[in-house]
Amino acid sequence: MSTRSSQEKLKVFVRVRPFLPSETNADNNKSRFARIASSAPVVQITDSKTLIYNPSELKTILPVNRFTTTRTRVRYDQQYCFDECFDWNTSESTMFSQVAEPLLDSALEGHNSTLFAYGATGCGKSHTVSSINERVGNALFEKIKEQEGMFEYKVSMSYVQLYNEKLLDLIPDGKYQAHKSQMLNGLKLLEGSDRPSVVGLSSYDITCAEDIHTLCQKAYQVRCTAATKVNAQSSRSHALLMLTIKCSSKLVAHDREATLTIIDLAGSERAQSTENRGVRLKEGAKINQSLLALGKCINARARNQRFVPYRESKLTRLLRPCFEGQCKASMIVCVSPSMINFDETHYSLEYGQRVMCV
Ligand code: ADP
Repeated sequence: MSTRSSQEKLKVFVRVRPFLPSETNADNNKSRFARIASSAPVVQITDSKTLIYNPSELKTILPVNRFTTTRTRVRYDQQYCFDECFDWNTSESTMFSQVAEPLLDSALEGHNSTLFAYGATGCGKSHTVSSINERVGNALFEKIKEQEGMFEYKVSMSYVQLYNEKLLDLIPDGKYQAHKSQMLNGLKLLEGSDRPSVVGLSSYDITCAEDIHTLCQKAYQVRCTAATKVNAQSSRSHALLMLTIKCSSKLVAHDREATLTIIDLAGSERAQSTENRGVRLKEGAKINQSLLALGKCINARARNQRFVPYRESKLTRLLRPCFEGQCKASMIVCVSPSMINFDETHYSLEYGQRVMCV
């Protein structure tokens, strides 16, 4: 059983991505107003832990009620504090060393560790996760090599997607029929008293960083193809890379095992703000439900509540082991600096702040 002292607080980081060429003055076809609007950042990082949303400078640059209806209701100079805020000049290697490496170290020490990338579609989740996946692969085997004399490690990898509450193997082991049927029905999640398991999910023994890179590339490809087949976009699904690390000591009888899970969460844009109807609305509702359930479970664990509402979504049912015992977790809230994403950025910062404040 976990105790309060063994439960480490979830860390929340914010990463502001750079403006995209389509959002800046580079696009000459835009009206003068659209050009100014899109190049004025709606978030300003004031120090390493603080950022300002909707800075009052925007008052002089942009009339309210343009671009978004909620802008008229949103206060200027709203301050948010996080464990660390990364601006758009932050390198991928800094993101790895500040955020992902401590989780990798913790998994090597035998504690389940989880990294969530949260944010609206187009705000940099996949960009961040793919670079972290690559660096985790490289660093994992460098670290294993350093400890060669004392420990023996066995690493295995699975990659699963959760779309509309259905589980799909992103690196199926070549059995086309099985893949076709799981596309339609999804894989089954078995929840025993122990840890949940996904029936039929492929697991690969990994012996070098290159194995991880190759399987990740396959997973990214399957994610895109699957997206077209079921007429959905990868932005509406969660993708979970799971690296299970087993370690046995060469000196004393002491074995340990932990999973490092890196999750590219579905886009957090609210169903109502995307003008979705029918299927899209249902998808949006399911995404909202799972992200809400995730927030509730994080809160419950941080408060050391006896009841954690894992059952409210498949995502949280699957992630149960990541919240139990001496685990470690971090979240990167990815936001865009552009006025085009004004509402989504506010929503993401609020979510991150709620998670941060527990
Ligand atoms: P999401 O996964 O949240 O939908 P993406 O990761 O696909 O968003 O990012 C959207 C676009 O922004 C992509 O073209 C991506 O290359 C670019 N981008 C995101 N973050 C960064 C960054 N830190 N540096 C440079 N480009 C970025």
